[in-house]
Amino acid sequence: MAKLEIRHLQKKFGPLEVIEDFNLCVEDREFVSLLGPSGCGKSTILRIVAGLEELTCGDVIIGDQVVTHLEPKDRDVAMVFQNYALYPQKTVFENLAYGLRVRKTPEDRIKARVDDVVTLLQIAPLLERKPAQLSGGQQQRVSMGRAIMREPAAFLFDEPLSNLDAKLRNHMRVEVCQLQKRLGITTLYVTHDQVEAMTMSDRIVVLNHGKIEQIGKPLDIYERPASLFVATFIGSPSMNLFAAQSDGQEIRLTSGETLSVSGVPTGEVIMGVRPERIRLSDCAVPDSLNYRISMVEELGAQKVIHGDLGGVDVSVVHNGDGTIPAGSAWLTLLPDYLHFFNPRTGKRYEQD
Ligand code: ADP
Ligand code: MG
Repeated sequence: MAKLEIRHLQKKFGPLEVIEDFNLCVEDREFVSLLGPSGCGKSTILRIVAGLEELTCGDVIIGDQVVTHLEPKDRDVAMVFQNYALYPQKTVFENLAYGLRVRKTPEDRIKARVDDVVTLLQIAPLLERKPAQLSGGQQQRVSMGRAIMREPAAFLFDEPLSNLDAKLRNHMRVEVCQLQKRLGITTLYVTHDQVEAMTMSDRIVVLNHGKIEQIGKPLDIYERPASLFVATFIGSPSMNLFAAQSDGQEIRLTSGETLSVSGVPTGEVIMGVRPERIRLSDCAVPDSLNYRISMVEELGAQKVIHGDLGGVDVSVVHNGDGTIPAGSAWLTLLPDYLHFFNPRTGKRYEQD
């Protein structure tokens, strides 16, 4: 069991700096996700931790050992890849056994360990098959099995569920999470999928252009996003944003509508409100704003409503029954759930 630390990591590919002074400590047994859009540097960080990529500056520490310049095989980590990376000519048994074979583990120990792992992952009937004879979900399970064969100090996952269909992905999300908790292995998990990061992680690191935007527990990041980038990256549909002017007590939207608020700095602000924190009514109520519905997406359990509020596209998540006609309606933005950002820096204004 071990914690995993990355200190002052910098990575350049030639003149291109893709990671800039990245610092993170994943505690023993913790599940931390690296979340960000494609190309922001997630895989690069993971590959550096695994030893598959050289770093430009910084250190990687696993347990008490500085592993910065060790070969991948000498680092006590196991990596699971998006494309599974199984040996196509080897059976499931041989794929699982391979890591211990090259370490010259006695054959009876290997067999016993394969037995444990296939029981844990419920893949015992697949032992004699080759990867081409397995479904995507089964291949992913074998690839996870290979990672746990050695009981490593840390798991490194690089978008392991991205190639699965939506239903299986939801199922595997729960399974990976339960497995990680049961084995108690420190985990760094890379994903571009905010739902995966939100549902699986103890903490999330939101990454943008190789820089950390925010580190926090999933709910903290959802409720108190540190920047406009985080605010709009987390949550679906995305947070609604309004350019506004504040005099400290009142917010005036560009459409001229006003809202009373407290503790917001004076001057230009960007106000954010999540679609699920807006109440919709068909007649005006105090502090409601006029809204024109252009489209309703019916999702069964809820509806996502799209429309216009004073020239701004605004979406609303509505949980009530009944049909909602296009046309005029009224919105109440719940005051406890408003977010304010500095339009120049994109950083959050704290309100208390
Ligand atoms: P992510 O996994 O978040 O999608 P990557 O870590 O793969 O992002 O890539 C981060 C950035 O580094 C991208 O701009 C990518 O083009 C660049 N990059 C990755 N690998 C190399 C490489 N071997 N040579 C040059 N640039 C690279
Ligand atoms: Mg990647």
